[in-house]
Amino acid sequence: MLAGARERRVRTGGIELCVAELGDPQLPTVVLVHGYPDSKEVWSAVASRLAERFHVVLYDVRGHGGSTAPRPLRGGFTLEKLTDDFLAVVDAVSPGRPVHLVGHDWGSVQAWEFVTVRRTEGRIASFTSMSGPSLDHFGHWIKQRVKRPTPRRVGQLLGQAAKSWYVYLLHTPVLPELAWRGPLSKHWPRVLELMEKVPGGTYPTSSLSADAAHGAWLYRDNVRRRLRRPRPDAYAHAPVQLITPLGDAFLSQRLYDELEQWAPQLTRRTLPARHWIPRSRPDQLAAWIEEFVTANEGGRPVIEATGRHGDRFGGQLVLVTGAGSGIGRATAFAFAEAGARVIAVDRDAEGAARTAEMARLVGAPQAWAETVDVSDEQAMEKLAEKVATEYGVVDVLVNNAGIGLSGRFLDTTPEDWRKVLDVNLWGVIHGCRLFGRQMAERGQGGHIVNTASAAAYQPSRALPAYSTSKAAVLMLSECLRAELAGQGIGVTAICPGFVNTNITSTARFAGVDAAEERRRQKRSARLYGLRNYPPEKVADAILQAVVRNEAVVPVTPEARGAYLLSRFMPGALRRIARVEPRL
Ligand code: NAD
Repeated sequence: MLAGARERRVRTGGIELCVAELGDPQLPTVVLVHGYPDSKEVWSAVASRLAERFHVVLYDVRGHGGSTAPRPLRGGFTLEKLTDDFLAVVDAVSPGRPVHLVGHDWGSVQAWEFVTVRRTEGRIASFTSMSGPSLDHFGHWIKQRVKRPTPRRVGQLLGQAAKSWYVYLLHTPVLPELAWRGPLSKHWPRVLELMEKVPGGTYPTSSLSADAAHGAWLYRDNVRRRLRRPRPDAYAHAPVQLITPLGDAFLSQRLYDELEQWAPQLTRRTLPARHWIPRSRPDQLAAWIEEFVTANEGGRPVIEATGRHGDRFGGQLVLVTGAGSGIGRATAFAFAEAGARVIAVDRDAEGAARTAEMARLVGAPQAWAETVDVSDEQAMEKLAEKVATEYGVVDVLVNNAGIGLSGRFLDTTPEDWRKVLDVNLWGVIHGCRLFGRQMAERGQGGHIVNTASAAAYQPSRALPAYSTSKAAVLMLSECLRAELAGQGIGVTAICPGFVNTNITSTARFAGVDAAEERRRQKRSARLYGLRNYPPEKVADAILQAVVRNEAVVPVTPEARGAYLLSRFMPGALRRIARVEPRL
């Protein structure tokens, strides 16, 4: 039973379906269909989030949860019968208005049938599919690859065949039923927790063993039949949003390569997660479903991101520090172009405000500016509190704010040390500590990027304090990456070489008077200008690093070269470190 839900029973073809409703029936209806071996409770976290904005309807598929099973089981689970059930539910809960359909796993497989057969035309306003392809599309996908095999296509076939091991098992008689009625259902919650990172609690429900035994007929009644003879006209008659978890152990991403051909109005989303996303990523799913449903109700259209990685970052909340200039500003823009909501943080109020304003212009659905000194512990605590209450838990955090400090160790004063460590190291520590904790407590993954520098692994007599601060950021990132890996939170250290930004004009030069400092700032600004490596390229590397969950990313050829030397010829780097820079 779902908390706060109204339950009713809907009769169809000798079956009684258990239907639950949440939210105001006057609002647009969203129908959530569960997969195998689940019941409608798999949606509980997503449903409660959606119920604030929509009329949410869930039902137990025949033979599952509180719905009765067909007799005999064989032949009772065909896609045609499942479509009858769906229409009966829709007639009962939303007779005069098309519904927004959402399916996961087998819920999505059957929903593809609903959205591609003629008799449901006009009854479905949109469809959000996750981790469950159309069997017809899958059948055509296989046929194309068998008919015209290339090494790549054969690789794709074999890849999916390997991921489908459980489908073959479910086709064997009796064994799956015995396994599910025996030890498997007892251990299933632990399997989900360990393999799928699904948090424990009230799910799965006590009907699991019966659900799983009955649900085996979903496979037996449909898979071979449809894969052998896929329908030639399985075109979607409603807009489709495809959400693909990139770590799905059961489905290859390649299955969806040609999906536009079947679903012309297609919006793609990806997220780094495993198969059971209704349990592991309810916030992200609810946000994407809400955006898609609202757009298809004639509201604000889904923002088509113009930049790369729009499928991944669209609608996500990204916080960038040091966003008022240089690498931070370029990074805020790159996330904005990918459709993310951006919080631009800088101690320079004007710079942060300008970045937020521009971020909205280049594609961010929302962008805010926050004026904070990252080295100020209390100010950072206030910021973290404000962000959590007003904007939500950050999906991507970029700790980028930093200052330059050049000069010999013996000329560097304790005050110089304090300043550079306060901003470059403590700023990163505060960010990781406060926002990292929020991410970990939410338990739905995320990513932290820390801007270190090539100076983190390249010693030099010119930058002892700066390099020390950046080496600490690099090691902090590596340690944190190890600590948070189990919670689906990635951590990346970005290590740029010489990038053409304002850092040279504001950097402190220890051991010289003000006039000489000014001269050196100008000269290094000119040299960085001649090098002319744009901060936009670092921003691209940051987005890519998040998508690929990379640990350490040297950016610029000199940073990559020094990284190789540090690993394979550290002696050479030490000799280079002795060269006195001419500034
Ligand atoms: P930048 O000077 O153009 O931008 C830095 C931004 O950080 C500025 O807007 C500044 O106001 C802000 N900032 C500084 N101290 C702050 C504080 N205490 N609180 C909040 N905001 C603060 O410099 P950039 O080159 O874009 O530097 C960004 C990061 O990249 C820094 O961490 C820097 O060390 C690192 N980095 C830069 C280069 C390079 O060559 N430019 C190379 C390697 C690493």
